[in-house]
Amino acid sequence: MSNSGTIEWDYAPAPERIRPDISDEYGLFIDGAFVEPESGESFKTVNPATGQTIARVASAGAADVDKAVKAAKAAGGKWSRLKPTERAKFLFRIARRLQECARELAVLETMDGGKPICESRDVDLPLAAQHFFYHAGWADKLQWAFPGCTPRPRGVCGQIIPWNFPLLMAAWKIAPALACGNTVVLKPAETTPLTALHLARVFQEVDLPPGVVNILTGAGETGAAIVDHPGVKKIAFTGSTDVGRGIMHALASRDVPLTLELGGKSPNIVFADAAIDQAVEGVVSGIWFNQGHVCCAGSRLFVEESIVEPFVAALRERMGRLRVGDPLDKNTDVGAINSREQLNRIEALVACGQEEGAILHEINDDPLPKRGNWHRPCFFTGVEPSHVIAREEIFGPVLSVMTFRTPQEALRRANSTPYGLAAGVWTDKGSKVFDIAGALEAGVVWCNTYNKFDAASPFGGCKASGFGREGGRHGLRPYLNLRSSGA
Ligand code: ADP
Repeated sequence: MSNSGTIEWDYAPAPERIRPDISDEYGLFIDGAFVEPESGESFKTVNPATGQTIARVASAGAADVDKAVKAAKAAGGKWSRLKPTERAKFLFRIARRLQECARELAVLETMDGGKPICESRDVDLPLAAQHFFYHAGWADKLQWAFPGCTPRPRGVCGQIIPWNFPLLMAAWKIAPALACGNTVVLKPAETTPLTALHLARVFQEVDLPPGVVNILTGAGETGAAIVDHPGVKKIAFTGSTDVGRGIMHALASRDVPLTLELGGKSPNIVFADAAIDQAVEGVVSGIWFNQGHVCCAGSRLFVEESIVEPFVAALRERMGRLRVGDPLDKNTDVGAINSREQLNRIEALVACGQEEGAILHEINDDPLPKRGNWHRPCFFTGVEPSHVIAREEIFGPVLSVMTFRTPQEALRRANSTPYGLAAGVWTDKGSKVFDIAGALEAGVVWCNTYNKFDAASPFGGCKASGFGREGGRHGLRPYLNLRSSGA
């Protein structure tokens, strides 16, 4: 008990003890085997919580990309002609194997990316398995998904993913592609390559035919070489808006369908009639979940003016109870920032917010570890719509709190952004939910909740946040050529 009479919990460290089987070096996964890169180049992947090198990983050049695309093309004929129920069996096997080695993969995800083990264990891994289970179910029902059409696979799909949900993004992209009879060349982000490579081990364990999925590690040039390869018949990209624009430009003169899931500056709108404690929890998970490394992070909070004082007080109190620290500790809420570069960007934007006159609230003053990349969760009040922190994506645990007086003002301010990925609405009134949700310019709107994902639910943005959907029936469409049956 503290002097004030409130209970203060103090947890002993609870480190995760499972250690995954990590190699010192990883090759490229091409045609069912790990091979040395033609480029002869490699790079190291580092644990952002300790600064220690975990492993060296091959860097794929243009010749490696060519090899992988050819392997995927060669595998495509047989894979696409396989009975759909047989394709489904492979997806089911992958899902089950992911469940079996979920703990090791969760630890690996946390070591390579810095996210707390409770998130990789309870969110990333179950959802990754769910995406394979869910899409296994679609493999033999595609003609029912699109009545009147004869769905056919597109061929080799190039998939490029970021570092915030490395394994989940891989599952999210590979599972629908395979269910639809395509083959894949996937590139994970350069700071988080390991779980995709361990997923390749899973493919070997379940005897997925060689070449059906190829995993190429490398940086932006590797991604660009995948985009530019003429053998690639569909591109799916998740990452920054700038790179997404470049990819769109590169594909402008080619008949290659593209799905883009880009940045966001998502609003969370809290009305005075909302259940306040529930809304505070939602706002907390919306911005401080995964250190704010979520494209759809609720980084702009609009609170109805009449409740702003108690709401901000409750938010401060809740923020003060978040634990920042060792991501492998099961009690940690906020882990390490993925890279030094990302931390620099967050720090620069926080400094910019202070220079522009916003008030920084950063309560938790526990000392941060000396090594690694850390940023305490924080929020700003006194934020003007013109401030950089209210406009630019920060991709870190930094929230901008603003107020509104009428639903119309909330809507106008929430929509006043180039982005349109996600939004949240908090109110007790069902009619208000429908009015506001229908008028918000966002691909996903959560009502009285936030950051909830399901393989059956399509996800994607509008405006500068991209186009196309992933997940659900909508997510199958980009992976299919849909010719009318009569044609
Ligand atoms: P972030 O800012 O989240 O790191 P990026 O858009 O830079 O987002 O990276 C997302 C993914 O895109 C990573 O796998 C990265 O290597 C890849 N990438 C970066 N530049 C390019 C490019 N020019 N073409 C294709 N992929 C790229």
